[in-house]
Amino acid sequence: MNEFELIQEFFSGKSPSRKDVILGIGDDAAILRVPDGMQVVATVDTLVEGVHFPAGLSAEDIGHRSLAVSLSDVAAMGAEPAWALLALTLPNANEKWLTDFTRGFLALAQRHAVALVGGNLARGPLSVTVTAHGLVPNGAALTRSGARPGDHIYVSSELGAAAAGLRLIRNRIEPEAGERLRTRFAQPEPRIALGLALRGLANACIDISDGFFADLAHVLRSSGAGAEVNVDTLPLAAEAVELLGRAEARQLAFAGGDDYELCFCMPPARLAQLQQRLGKVNCPVTQVGVVTAEQSLRCLQTDGTRWVPDADTSGYRHFK
Ligand code: ADP
Ligand code: MG
Repeated sequence: MNEFELIQEFFSGKSPSRKDVILGIGDDAAILRVPDGMQVVATVDTLVEGVHFPAGLSAEDIGHRSLAVSLSDVAAMGAEPAWALLALTLPNANEKWLTDFTRGFLALAQRHAVALVGGNLARGPLSVTVTAHGLVPNGAALTRSGARPGDHIYVSSELGAAAAGLRLIRNRIEPEAGERLRTRFAQPEPRIALGLALRGLANACIDISDGFFADLAHVLRSSGAGAEVNVDTLPLAAEAVELLGRAEARQLAFAGGDDYELCFCMPPARLAQLQQRLGKVNCPVTQVGVVTAEQSLRCLQTDGTRWVPDADTSGYRHFK
């Protein structure tokens, strides 16, 4: 198939249709309608084989993951996802690979009513770039810069599972207990419903892609604040503790990355309201620290002693 046939076969008309898509795949560009009173949140991410995921990750996983990481940014802004564009660079037009890739991509698009409205196909080393757009009422988007001293710091679900899963995938070991960890890396769940629930409640929000420590540091820098974190309260994946031990599982939770959980700062007085909204969101949140006026990030244990991570906490760096 040539690229026009490939687009027709795999992408055109395969994603959810939306009334706000005036013109989708097939023209030079898409035409999209932004409802009155709404703003567009726009984000793009590239996944390169060997950099963002190990060679050999299944095409279905790559499809899911490439959309998930962009939708996670939309979630962190408190926006409702609407549209996506997909730029795909492939070594060859392998139809089996494309079938599996689109299954992963479109299943996630379906769940969040995301319309694929355009993209690009090119030949080259495997790389996937997804642009995602979300909608948010005027002025209601969550940003990194609003954290205030006294806010409590929360994270969603659990941390370190994806990094533990990546380690299993890289080392090609498949303990039964590791299945869920591998899935947490291969098919992260963008926390869309939680992001929406945080509108009007959270003062700041970020999604954890580089690692909890590195991403919380981004929030604190943007907000001109610091934090005290109790590392004993980090929600660890039970399987990571079982397979790697508590100390290592905690290191991965702290600095591992790839979790795509949300980390947010919120005045404690708003917790009851959040809990009420969370009734409908199948995703627990855990308080792990507090924002301070002093601009440093201190890690403590429950007994009050300082905790120092033994690995590099700066997160993944493409350019050192
Ligand atoms: P142009 O050359 O004008 O950029 P293309 O021939 O590359 O257009 O693409 C034709 C149409 O197919 C465009 O609407 C484009 O957005 C869409 N498209 C191309 N590749 C993809 C893809 N991987 N996924 C979704 N839509 C795609
Ligand atoms: Mg054109």
